[in-house]
Amino acid sequence: MVRCETIACPVCGGSHFTRLFEKHGEPFVRCRDCALVLINPRPVATDVLNSYDAAYTGHYLRKAAKKRTRCRRAVRRIQRHYVTSGRWLDVGCSAGFVVEAAAQAGFDAFGVDVEAAAIDHARRVLGLRQVACGTLQAQAYPAQYFDVISLYDVLEHVPDLHPFLAEVERLLAPAGVIEIRTPDVGHWRVPRRLERWPEIKPSEHLYYFDRRTLARLLAGHGLVVVSRRLAFKPGLKIYVRRAG
Ligand SMILES: [Zn+2]
Repeated sequence: MVRCETIACPVCGGSHFTRLFEKHGEPFVRCRDCALVLINPRPVATDVLNSYDAAYTGHYLRKAAKKRTRCRRAVRRIQRHYVTSGRWLDVGCSAGFVVEAAAQAGFDAFGVDVEAAAIDHARRVLGLRQVACGTLQAQAYPAQYFDVISLYDVLEHVPDLHPFLAEVERLLAPAGVIEIRTPDVGHWRVPRRLERWPEIKPSEHLYYFDRRTLARLLAGHGLVVVSRRLAFKPGLKIYVRRAG
């Protein structure tokens, strides 16, 4: 039996929602104040964490070659435009391909993921040592420790966004950069009937941001979007720094 909880909108704190549709028995709603799309009520966090299983990792690994190429490109882009060296933390590192690419490019690279099977792969197959299993907050890295923090397909999974983002901000070096990728519900290629969008994944994807809702969420943690890459697929790809 899955336990459920009703939450306030994590972007604006609002509590008025318009019901959109239901998928696998889970209600998808839109915040009436800021337009964030989310699952609400939703299964409680511990149950969501338990849904990360080996099958998820297996699916990820089958695309390994393509992912390696994409990770190397992402690292090069950061080096060209933002930070050339230092410490890199990949949050939600899964099997470790971003950590590997960052290390090969000369970064002191770290990774963290809640999924044990993925971390096991990163250690055994890729030989990575600085990868940790658990939540970001549990690692207790020193303040302002990382020059680059990557959050690829992570935010939409995080049950408790505010403590998570507060920790990301705490860990970021003063001149550091964060790259975030998450599905973009405001993208022109998202089907008008939202329930047909493949990114709509009950329990797994808890929130569906657009440019505005994501920028507003980050602003609440002293972070500002400095650039955005246009994406043909409905995804947000943004670079973020400390405000001011
Ligand atoms: Zn809202």
